[in-house]
Amino acid sequence: MQIETIQNCNARCVMCGINEWHRETNKMSDSLFLKVSNELFEYKDVIQRVSVFLGGEPLLDKKLAEKISILKNGGIKNVFFTTNASLMFKDRALEILESGITQIDISLDSLKKEIYEKIRVGLKFDEVINNVLGLIELRNSGNFDTRIRIRITQMDCNANEIEDFRKFFKDNFKEGDSVYSKNLNTFFMEGELKDDVKQFTGFSKYKSDEFIYPKLPCYTLWNTMIILSDGRVGLCCVDMGRNVILGDLRKNTIKEVWQGESYKKIREIHLKDGRGAMKECTNCATWI
Ligand code: SF4
Repeated sequence: MQIETIQNCNARCVMCGINEWHRETNKMSDSLFLKVSNELFEYKDVIQRVSVFLGGEPLLDKKLAEKISILKNGGIKNVFFTTNASLMFKDRALEILESGITQIDISLDSLKKEIYEKIRVGLKFDEVINNVLGLIELRNSGNFDTRIRIRITQMDCNANEIEDFRKFFKDNFKEGDSVYSKNLNTFFMEGELKDDVKQFTGFSKYKSDEFIYPKLPCYTLWNTMIILSDGRVGLCCVDMGRNVILGDLRKNTIKEVWQGESYKKIREIHLKDGRGAMKECTNCATWI
């Protein structure tokens, strides 16, 4: 289950389609969050994970730690989010760790200041790395169980950095922590990238045919529900434009939407003709 508690971001990363989103910033209301959470608790034994983020930066939600605590206290075992860590100052880091968060992924695409700031536009490398090391130190000294995973979106400009990341963090990591890299082909671009960005990222190379599986159904349709900040249910984490809406939790329950006609229709399309039969999915290799 993936819940977008806030729809907003403080960065403008080169590989992100945020400028094409065409939607206002929005925060999920407390009442909607509680409605969704209470429904989730009915399925706590089968839910593998609840992610409290979607597109954007989850720490912009000042009540994020409170929401994580609600989920954990309700019996959700695995609660997770990905952050750019720019707002992970010591007080926020502590309240997030104390909330019982299971795993935090940190998007940190380069250890080279110049490259990092060209990728994660709007963020300051020195501040972010300070926050990341501070979080890990706090986690280690407080003996919190939270796992930390450093994420690299692999592109031409950072393709050779994975080993550097492993070396950099090896003395700080505890068992369960890791460095994780996924290449750019899995990211969905709604607009055309400018030429200089294409050159910097090597985007067209990562988007080559070898990654395209038009006949393959996408398994995310059977295992993940995407709950948007306004309560609508989106297609998947990749459909950043929210082009496909499968239900609305302001009007229906999770079960009604999950077993409803919209999900059924899309699953049938994928099973019969593969992802290539839907224009939103045809070039997507995120879940294969
Ligand atoms: S193929 Fe991609 S765009 Fe389509 S449902 Fe799967 S993840 Fe989403």
